[in-house]
Amino acid sequence: MNVLIVEDEQDIAANIGDYLQAQGETPDYAYDGIGGLHLALTQEYDAIVLDVMLPRMNGLQFCQALRQEGFNTPVLMLTARDTLADKLAGFDVGTDDYLVKPFALQELYVRLTALVRRAQPPQQKIIKVADLELNQDTHTATRAGHTLKLNPVGLKLLALLMQSSPNTVLRHVLEEALWQETPPESDALRSHLYALRQVVDKPFKQALIHTVHGIGYRLVADDASTA
Ligand code: CA
Repeated sequence: MNVLIVEDEQDIAANIGDYLQAQGETPDYAYDGIGGLHLALTQEYDAIVLDVMLPRMNGLQFCQALRQEGFNTPVLMLTARDTLADKLAGFDVGTDDYLVKPFALQELYVRLTALVRRAQPPQQKIIKVADLELNQDTHTATRAGHTLKLNPVGLKLLALLMQSSPNTVLRHVLEEALWQETPPESDALRSHLYALRQVVDKPFKQALIHTVHGIGYRLVADDASTA
């Protein structure tokens, strides 16, 4: 995840950043409130670690401004002053959690990942497109009431297509979801899509999976633009 660290004490910022980096996360730094806010409004972050006492704009003002601009990025506030009033003020302006200095980096990381997880919209358990239905809890798919026999790759592809429906999913997005950086061979995706269509579309009148040539695939009930 991309984490913005807004902290004027550079050694603390570096400590947090190094720890996050060691966990495979991507830290970014700002050393005052205005600079931090500028980054927060122009870059994409999964979470912000925000010190309360900052030059130019304090953490509470930062948070208020961020929320006023309509950004819901989770904010973990760092405070040196362990007073209830400070904490309540933090929550008032849209802070999601806080830590009192000094804190263990591990705890910061646990809280950050929890915030990010909570911020993600809950997954819809059952997705429907036309007469096709996918249950993401039981990992079963049906079409017109018939259970579809799909292997794990087929199920994963179907889930990706249905989650994005009616939008097109890019080829490389599908490939990365299945094989990360290293697809087994250039035509592997095509073969899996072919197999998926044999199960999802072939026995039925209407095809739902459509190729968007040179771009990717989309799953949609009635599609006039692609074949
Ligand atoms: Ca400070």
